[in-house]
Amino acid sequence: MSTGNEKIAIIGAGLGGAAAGALLQHAGFNVQIFEQAPSFSRLGAGIHMGPNVLKIFQRIGMDQKLIDISSTPAYWFSRDGLRGDYLSRIPLEGYGATYCTVHRGDLSALQMDTMTPGTVQFNKRLTRLEDNGSDVYLEFQDGTSARATIVIGADGINSRVRETLLGAEKPHYSGWVGHRAMISAEKLKKFDLTFEDCVKWWGPDRHMMVYYTTSRRDEYYYVTGVPHPAWEFDGAFVQSSREEMSEAFAGYHPVIQALIEATDDVTKWPLFNRNPLPLWSQGRMVLLGDACHPMKPHMAQGAAMAIEDAAMLARCLEETGSQDYATAFRLYEASRRDRATQVQTVSNANTFLQTQEDPSWVYGYDVYAEPILDKSVA
Ligand code: FAD
Repeated sequence: MSTGNEKIAIIGAGLGGAAAGALLQHAGFNVQIFEQAPSFSRLGAGIHMGPNVLKIFQRIGMDQKLIDISSTPAYWFSRDGLRGDYLSRIPLEGYGATYCTVHRGDLSALQMDTMTPGTVQFNKRLTRLEDNGSDVYLEFQDGTSARATIVIGADGINSRVRETLLGAEKPHYSGWVGHRAMISAEKLKKFDLTFEDCVKWWGPDRHMMVYYTTSRRDEYYYVTGVPHPAWEFDGAFVQSSREEMSEAFAGYHPVIQALIEATDDVTKWPLFNRNPLPLWSQGRMVLLGDACHPMKPHMAQGAAMAIEDAAMLARCLEETGSQDYATAFRLYEASRRDRATQVQTVSNANTFLQTQEDPSWVYGYDVYAEPILDKSVA
């Protein structure tokens, strides 16, 4: 794989960057990750990790560790948010690996453990990078710099690497926000109601997705999608409130009212988007995950696509070696573009699993069983 002197720099140690780091390191590459955050803390948010991702985590010995700390729902229920009727009961078993819902912080901590200590350098905000033909020069906000043979931009929706490839362009505000709250299951005991493992409550123009985030089922989490005409705040999120939630979900089902009553802390996140990019790589720089194809989160597959990207990119680099990165990047984009775009489109439409449908195309997908495609890309 590596001939010794090559170095792969990954920008961002989010779920996609960390997956790329671990997979490339397991394949024998010399990898360094540069992350802008000073450290990662256990912020209040959950995440779904479907069987398509667990198949990848098997490769780095992380699948069972994740299952051990996650809730593993047997069904995704879709219910009418006002009346409570079941719109669909989608089995989450039978796709070749387990379906997990978990705390994002716990997932991230497991991912960090899959890499050699020291792989991730924190407090390294990339400010500038330049491909000079023979390597890439990286400059960070703290005044330090580095050089790498190739650079993987896993730096999220406001990617500096994407900006270098394609120019500055703000993502589009989708007109929607997501509220996020983590609730102590203890607080739900007083209600004579059933809190299902994984359920999406659908209203005419809004929804609330709810699930447990631990194997102990002591944390219950909700994330909404609610129309909100303009995002008038600075920063990634703002504080919301129980009152705002009550107003947004007035008249909704008693389970939703109970969740709002049990809410201690709730935040509000703008949902941003981009159109499919005209290119995924240029020279020695390549993109993955939200840097490349951000989407509204309504399919719970954004991070999954970042991790699938990481797996396919690692496969392509293993196939070609890092010196022939140009071929690897071409194969990677050819093998990933259609799937990522399809998921991006369905996720943005917010229809996935609302009615009884077969989700095998998403969960049954095994990135290692897919052919590496060699079609030329526009
Ligand atoms: P990110 O997770 O954004 O990571 C980027 C990293 O790069 C960050 O750590 C950041 O600090 C770092 N970085 C950025 N700029 C720089 C820089 N200049 N220098 C150095 N470091 C930098 N997806 C799912 O699969 N399942 C779900 O259930 C789910 N729920 C969601 C709910 C909500 C409300 C939202 C908003 C998203 C949800 N997603 C979900 C989508 C998912 O969060 C993203 O798709 C995923 O995090 C993308 O991963 P990434 O690694 O590409 O980018």
